[in-house]
Amino acid sequence: MTSSTRPLLNRRLAEFGTTIFAEMSALALRTGAINLGQGFPDTDGPEEIREAAVRALRDGRGNQYPPGPGIPELRAAVAAHQERRYGLSYDPDAEVLVTAGATEAIAATLLALLEPDDEVIAFEPYYDSYAACIAMAGGTRVPVTLRPYEGSFRLDLDELRAAVTDRTRLLLINTPHNPTGTVLTRAELTAIAELAVERDLLVVTDEVYEHLVFDDAEHLPLATFPGMRERTVTIGSAGKSFSFTGWKVGWVTSTQELVTAVRTAKQYLTYVSAGPFQYAVAEALRLPDAYFDSFRADLQRKRDLLGDGLRAAGFEVYQPQGTYFITTDITPFGDKDAYAFCRALPERCGVVAIPNSVFYDDPNAGRSQVRFAFCKKDDVLAEATSRLQRLAS
Ligand code: PMP
Ligand code: GLN
Repeated sequence: MTSSTRPLLNRRLAEFGTTIFAEMSALALRTGAINLGQGFPDTDGPEEIREAAVRALRDGRGNQYPPGPGIPELRAAVAAHQERRYGLSYDPDAEVLVTAGATEAIAATLLALLEPDDEVIAFEPYYDSYAACIAMAGGTRVPVTLRPYEGSFRLDLDELRAAVTDRTRLLLINTPHNPTGTVLTRAELTAIAELAVERDLLVVTDEVYEHLVFDDAEHLPLATFPGMRERTVTIGSAGKSFSFTGWKVGWVTSTQELVTAVRTAKQYLTYVSAGPFQYAVAEALRLPDAYFDSFRADLQRKRDLLGDGLRAAGFEVYQPQGTYFITTDITPFGDKDAYAFCRALPERCGVVAIPNSVFYDDPNAGRSQVRFAFCKKDDVLAEATSRLQRLAS
């Protein structure tokens, strides 16, 4: 312990404590409540991909430091996936970078691209690591609030345009969006692209939920829009696309110049990670469309299962078009404070959820919003919603 009165945690991180995901998962563990908080599936991804990791480990592939940018097989598979799914062409040797999950991709990108005092525009509610990484890079976050509109959340394009200043360096986009489940439409993405070109902004787009879109929603990568390929850093994750969140394999695709910049920061964060898992993810990215189609159909069914259960329990439900989260409003129960509600929820009915209020700068905007994850077994979802019925009584 130092005797100095100076705080140990530096000024850039002073506003940050334990992440809400760690806090709420610990609460679930402590109370034995059903954990619909932190977003991780309770069923592992495809067996053949798990086996591919075991094989790599046994065969001694990736047990020592893999190459800094990622193993060639995985970089080639990422490039092939972007080409096959979206018609986007990337040079696997120069324009693809493997990272320790999307989390490191976000951190390395922001640390590489921001100067102190640069402004970063991100949607609010924002995924918590955005705020922390912008802060660690010395930047300033400028939130643009997604607002409830006709049962889901939408972006106000005028607000977005008005948020751009001479200090704006980049737009940090997330579609499909955690926690609201919003999937940006072609018209919205066109407007974002036009704005980025007009104001000469870099764009970082977190597309980790790219395969989790429902009904007639379509995931359109920002890099496919006019003028965007050359200014966009796109981020993906095997955790989300293949249900192996513990492997922490993510990737970045962009221009050679941008990937070089991101790699410069990344090599001093982890340098490399997840050697044997990289071989398995290379195989996963080459799974046929049938895998992605059934993954999506299964989750859409689970969304409906949880959504119906939450409505029956009395929540106001915002219908997500993507991700594996449902945002609700707790006002019908006479509750107004999502954080207090989530802290008390295990005791009240044995379920853990996430208060969206912590993802807002504007304390009023998300005060009564609570997020539930539906990437869980059907019987777990059914039991959780039956327990939540107790709230109404
Ligand atoms: N971005 C978003 C929007 C997320 O929800 C998450 C969390 N799963 C991540 C990034 C981090 O992904 P990873 O686990 O691959 O680091
Ligand atoms: N992305 C996951 C979620 O939103 C959590 C990841 C984490 O715990 N950092 O729930």
